[in-house]
Amino acid sequence: MSLDASGGTTALDRLRDRLDLRCAECGYEDDGGRWTAATSGARVTYQHICPSCAAVRQRTFHLDR
Ligand SMILES: [Zn+2]
Repeated sequence: MSLDASGGTTALDRLRDRLDLRCAECGYEDDGGRWTAATSGARVTYQHICPSCAAVRQRTFHLDR
């Protein structure tokens, strides 16, 4: 992903660690999957699409300095 800052653990990585890869709709555990991040200013929106039932989940965080 081009969004990632260079090297090390970024704030985006730390936020991603807090996101659950298990689908809330069907319970599918998306072990190989990941949330995709889109940033807009101080806000980052993560999106995950379940490969089993195609449910879309989104989480938005504010990046603290
Ligand atoms: Zn699902």
